[in-house]
Amino acid sequence: MIPAVMPTYSRAPMSFESGEGSWLVDRDGTRYLDIGGGIAVTALGHAHPKLVEVLAEQAGKLWHTSNLYHVPQQEALAEKLRDATFADTMFFTNSGNEAMEMAIKMVRKYWFEKGQPDRTKIITFTGSFHGRSIANISAAASEKLTQGFGPLLEGFVNLEAGDHDALQAALDDTVAGVIVEPVQGEGGIIPLPDACLKGLRDMCDSTGALLVFDEIQCGVGRTGKLFAHEWAGVTPDIMAVAKGIGNGFPLGACLATEDAASGMGAGSHGSTYGGNPLACAVGSAVMDLVNDDAFLGEVNRKAGLMRQKLEGLVASHPDIFELVRGAGLMLGIKCKVPNADVVNAGYAQHLLTVPGGDNVVRVLPALNISDDDIAEAVARLDRAATALEAA
Ligand SMILES: *Cc1c(COP(=O)(O)O)cnc(C)c1O
Repeated sequence: MIPAVMPTYSRAPMSFESGEGSWLVDRDGTRYLDIGGGIAVTALGHAHPKLVEVLAEQAGKLWHTSNLYHVPQQEALAEKLRDATFADTMFFTNSGNEAMEMAIKMVRKYWFEKGQPDRTKIITFTGSFHGRSIANISAAASEKLTQGFGPLLEGFVNLEAGDHDALQAALDDTVAGVIVEPVQGEGGIIPLPDACLKGLRDMCDSTGALLVFDEIQCGVGRTGKLFAHEWAGVTPDIMAVAKGIGNGFPLGACLATEDAASGMGAGSHGSTYGGNPLACAVGSAVMDLVNDDAFLGEVNRKAGLMRQKLEGLVASHPDIFELVRGAGLMLGIKCKVPNADVVNAGYAQHLLTVPGGDNVVRVLPALNISDDDIAEAVARLDRAATALEAA
C-alpha cells in the first residue's frame, strides 16, 4: 500500500526528535553530527536560542494577517536586506521555488512593460537547479527533473555551463534574461569563476538582458560573504534567496533593482502566506546574526579549517575520494565510489551529509559550527571511508 506520505523521496531510515547547534538527536537519544544543515538551511544550527526566542515571542502575538495589510515584520526585514545588498525592493515567499518563479515572471513582465512583449527568451545553464515548479524545471531542463511532466514552459535556452562561444552566440538582444547560480548546489557544488560572473554581467549590460542570480543555496553567509556574488564584485538585477534566510522557518525572497521590478505593480503578483509575521521575525533575526563582519570572518576561518581537513581526508583515501571543491562552508567532495555509499557510511558513523550531482557529497554545516565539531565531522568521514575501503 502506498505510504500515507507520498513516496517522492527515498528517505534514510532515521528521524529526529530534537536538535542543538550542529547536533540532531533521535528518539533513542542517539546523537548525529549534522554537516548537511537540512540542505544548507539551518545556517545558525538547530534550536538557536535567539531564533527560538524571536519565533516564540511572535507566535504569542500574531501569526497571520495576509498581505491585504502592511506587515511591519516584512518591512523591517526588507529594509535590512535592502541596506545589505544591491536590491531596492523585494517580494517575500515561502520557498526558493516561489522566489525563482517570481524572478521568471519579473523578467517577462519587464520586457512586456518596455513594449517588447515577445522578448521572453531566458538563458539557463546545464546542471542548474531552480526548484520544482513547471517553470523552474523547464528552466533547469535536466531530464531527471522534467521527465513525465511535459508540456514544459516555453522560452528557455539551456546552455552548457562554461561554453563561452555558445553563450556569446545566444546572448543577443532577443534574450530577456539570464539565470545562474553563482555556486551550483544540487549540481554538485560547482562555483562559477569570478571572471565568468563578471563576463556574464558585461554581456547582459551590452544587450539589456536582466541578470538573475539564484542564491537560494549559496547565499546568506554560506560562502563567507553575505551573498556569493560579492566575491566577484558584480551585482545582479534580480536575486532569489531562501534556505538559510529562515533557518528552517519557511521563507524566501525575490530581490530586485527598482528598474527590474518596474513592471510589478499592485495586482501583478501575490502570495497568501508570503512574508508572514512569523517567517519575517525569524528572517530579521537571522540577518542580524549573519550580516556581521565578525560572524562572516569566523565563517571564513572555519571554512579554511574545514577545507584543509577535507583535503587531508581526500589525500588519505585516494580510492574513495577524488577532490574537494566549493566556496566557504559550501563544500563538495567528489567521490570515486558512489556518493550514496559515502553518505550511508557516514550515517553508520552518525554523521549527516547530503548527496549532490556529479557524484558529490555535500558538506553544508551550520555556519557557526565549532572547531571541535569540524574536527569530529572529518574524523567520522575518515572512519566512514576506512569502512568503505574494508568492504
Ligand atoms: C533549494 C533550491 C531551490 C528550491 O528551493 P525550495 O525552497 O526547495 O523550493 C532553488 N534553487 C536552488 C539553487 C536551491 O538550492
